Amino acid sequence: MSKTKQKTRVLVLGGNFAGLGAAQKIRDHAGDAVEITVIDRKAYLDYIPNIPLEIFEGRDPAVTMHMPLVEALAEDDIHFEQAEIEAIDVDAKTVTLRPNERPGAPTYVQPYDKLVIALGARLAFDEIEGFAEFGHTVSDAWHANRLIEFLKTEYKGGPIAIGSARFTQGHRGRPSWLPTALAACEGPPVELALSLAHWLEENGKGGAKNITLFTPAEMIAEDAGEKVVHQLLQAAGEMGFGYKNRTQDITRITAEGIEFANGESLKAELKIVFPNWKPHDFLLGLPISDEVGFIVTGIDMRNPDYPDVFACGDAAALTVPKLGAIGHQETEVVGRQVAKDVGALSANEADEPWHPEVLCIGDMGGGKAFYIHATSWFGGDIQELRMGRLPYAQKLAYKELFFRNHGRVPNWGVPFAKWSAEGIAV
Ligand SMILES: Cc1cc2nc3c(=O)[nH]c(=O)nc-3n(C[C@H](O)[C@H](O)[C@H](O)COP(=O)(O)OP(=O)(O)OC[C@H]3O[C@@H](n4cnc5c(N)ncnc54)[C@H](O)[C@@H]3O)c2cc1C
Repeated sequence: MSKTKQKTRVLVLGGNFAGLGAAQKIRDHAGDAVEITVIDRKAYLDYIPNIPLEIFEGRDPAVTMHMPLVEALAEDDIHFEQAEIEAIDVDAKTVTLRPNERPGAPTYVQPYDKLVIALGARLAFDEIEGFAEFGHTVSDAWHANRLIEFLKTEYKGGPIAIGSARFTQGHRGRPSWLPTALAACEGPPVELALSLAHWLEENGKGGAKNITLFTPAEMIAEDAGEKVVHQLLQAAGEMGFGYKNRTQDITRITAEGIEFANGESLKAELKIVFPNWKPHDFLLGLPISDEVGFIVTGIDMRNPDYPDVFACGDAAALTVPKLGAIGHQETEVVGRQVAKDVGALSANEADEPWHPEVLCIGDMGGGKAFYIHATSWFGGDIQELRMGRLPYAQKLAYKELFFRNHGRVPNWGVPFAKWSAEGIAV
């Protein structure tokens, strides 16, 4: 009797945007030649990009932005394991994990044939002195709810500082076309400044004049391109926002304000910050990681020394800025490459070149949003900015589509957003 051929075991570490997307794309392209397991410490997808919008529109993101993950995966016959991932051994081709539904579980070692690392990054607020006592942020539901509570009950109308700490990017294995970013992701601070200004006005607590945006870099949101940032800064300046660049880093946050590494400081009653995006500790020192711990890959999202290891999303060294939209593009590449390995796609089909694009829609409050599409950060010539009601409608529609289709944003989803935002004056 002939033995049934064993399917290729694909382990996907992380089940948020990059992990869910990669698992689905692998299923799409590799079909039933693979057995896919996604491992995450939580059983839901956290739809992070709309968290600020939700709090300013009076909704609790813990209620509205968590999408059940297990059912979404089961639709594609993808198995889910809820566990804390503690270690990866790329030579033995194993992952060490600790199931975390109940405390007290031992660790288990799980083998893989193909590994996709989609673990995101650690947002290092705990490394900013004074953050817990005097800082605020919006990067998850807990902190966003804490911020809106502060605004409603304690904020007295004083100055507000919004900006980023210094991002540390690795160098090992980095392609020459990828520049050094001093901040990990500066769409959120820009979005937050605009939408908060609107909320302050609506609630009789001030407006744009209260807010100063700061950046460690020469220019905020550099990855959007000089032309776009110039337009954004001009509009922001006319609205009354303050702006401070070249702060280098946040040294500490105090009751009075923020102190910067360049020796300057900003007085502020409210300090809203975005930290360094750091790789998880257990990735540091692996033969697949760069010197800070991000996973090194080629443009095929495959580690050059360990070709059965892939990375996508914020965990990948190539993903700079740390944008979900770039991670989404990378998942398609991962899906095709795994399919090539199992013989489900030809090299021609799988190796179709990919060119990263910055795509970002940020809420401005009052039913308006800005839309940025840029490739200049990666050496291209696209730098598009649109502001108005259409991008806002798209931001909401994209989230609806995402939840309704369990993360399967149809392939036309992104191009449709590009076409409609760039083709119609708003
Ligand atoms: C306020 C804010 C607004 C943003 N707005 C936008 C936007 O408008 N557009 C955009 O494109 N991007 C935006 N981003 C960036 C976007 O959120 C990230 O790029 C995206 O979430 C990255 O997806 P990921 O799946 O790679 O990582 P993550 O979303 O960080 O997911 C990583 C997953 O891995 C799991 N995990 C991590 N470590 C372990 C472990 N040891 N064991 C088990 N599980 C683990 C986590 O639970 C998580 O589910 C925004 C970010 C912030 C903070």
